Order: sequence, then C-alpha cells, then structure tokens
Amino acid sequence: MMKYQRVLLKVSGEALSGSAGFGIDNSILEEIAKEIVAVAEMGVEVAIVVGGGNIHRGVSGAIKGMDRASSDYMGMVATMLNALALQDCLERKGHFTRVQSAIDMREVSEPYIRRRAVRHLEKKRIVIFAAGTGNPYFTTDTTAALRANEIGADIILKATKVDGIYDKDPMENKDAVKYDQLTYSEVISQGLKVMDTTAVTLCMENQMKIVVFNFFEKDAFKRIIQGEAVGTLVQR
Ligand code: UDP
Repeated sequence: MMKYQRVLLKVSGEALSGSAGFGIDNSILEEIAKEIVAVAEMGVEVAIVVGGGNIHRGVSGAIKGMDRASSDYMGMVATMLNALALQDCLERKGHFTRVQSAIDMREVSEPYIRRRAVRHLEKKRIVIFAAGTGNPYFTTDTTAALRANEIGADIILKATKVDGIYDKDPMENKDAVKYDQLTYSEVISQGLKVMDTTAVTLCMENQMKIVVFNFFEKDAFKRIIQGEAVGTLVQR
C-alpha cells in the first residue's frame, strides 16, 4: 500500500557531507541512493531537489564581502555537483535518472522543462532538479516548494539529520520537545527553523504538505510512503 504516488524529496547539501561537514561523503551518498531506489522500485514517482550547502552557501560569501547575487550563483552551480554525484550513484544501482537544471548546463544536464520532468516521472525515471530556482536570493527549500507544486507532487519530504521539528534545537537543548504535527502558521509564527519562510508560505498558499524526517533512520523514507507517521507533518 502506498499513500503517495509522486513525491518531492529535498536532500540538503549538508546531508551529503557526513561528519566532514564539507564535500560529498561517498558512503553517505550510497546510503541515500539505496533508500531512494527502494522507494522508486515500489513504483513511486520520485523527484529530488538537491541543496549545495556542503560546497557553498550564498550568505557565507556575502558575509565575507562578496556580492550576494554572485555568491548565490556559486551556490546554485554547487548544487549541480551534488546532483551529478547523486545521479551517478542512482544509476549504478540500476535506476534511470535525469538531471534538470534551472541554469543552462547543456553538456551535463537537461534544462528544466516542467512538462518534460513530468513525463520522466510518468516513465518512472527519478528526476533531480539542480541549480535551485535559477534565481539568487532564494534557497533550495523554496525550490522544493516551487517544483513540488509545479509537478503536482503529493507531498514534500524534507530529509534532515534530525527526526522532526522541535520547539528548540535538539542538538543544543536536552529538553527540546518534538512535534508530531504543526500548521504552516505555527511554523512561521514560532520561527521554527524547518524551511525558510518563503518556502513555507508557498506551501501554505498551495496546501502542499511537508514532512520533515531523519533520512538516516532505517527505512524512514519508505515508511512515510506506506503511510506511517514518521517525523513531523506540516499542513493546514
Ligand atoms: N541558491 C540560490 N537560489 C536558489 C537556490 C539556491 O541562490 O533558488 C543558492 C544560495 O546561495 C544557497 C545555495 O544556492 O545558499 C545552496 O543552496 P541551499 O543553501 O539551499 O542548500 P542546502 O542548505 O539545502 O544544502
């Protein structure tokens, strides 16, 4: 039994870096790819938005004095490295994959074309969206919200290293309490650090559900697809 037919998985750059905190950790990549292929093989249509924070984050360049837009473009290009690494890993596991980029990089990926992305999904190819929205001042979380709506995904699954949304940072506070469910407005008004506000409002306006979960918890991705309450659900 599958609760969702088409999902948008958001994989942050940070998730790919493992304990090093920078670059791509191959064993982590393997683990992530394995979970994704397991779900794709159930017949679920999987689209992925990859982040780039393990390589470059726009704001960190800007803090050091770089022009913000230039720094953001570096961030978007960085996501392509992650996308290609993930594509390679998924294809070595035997699953057809397409990368579509919001910034033209024709030699390595297709350009983002919504109808084509949907067609790939219908053919059960995993589609990886690279280069964010193609615009500076946005994030890949907002990209996830945008693409999920565009392709008519049932839900956004945000893969993190934490098992859901807490009232405060669980890494720093032992008494942090996990939420099973939240509304969009609670996330915004309580300033919960799940996704940036732009991403959350876009989801709110289009009633796109979000589940925040720990990708490294065994079979978590699969269990969500099967309808199990894993992580924190954000909805109206
Ligand atoms: N970025 C951007 N526009 C977008 C998406 C991403 O300018 O539509 C840039 C931004 O500088 C961001 C970087 O790309 O910091 C990497 O993306 P993000 O920080 O969202 O990656 P993650 O936190 O998921 O690893």
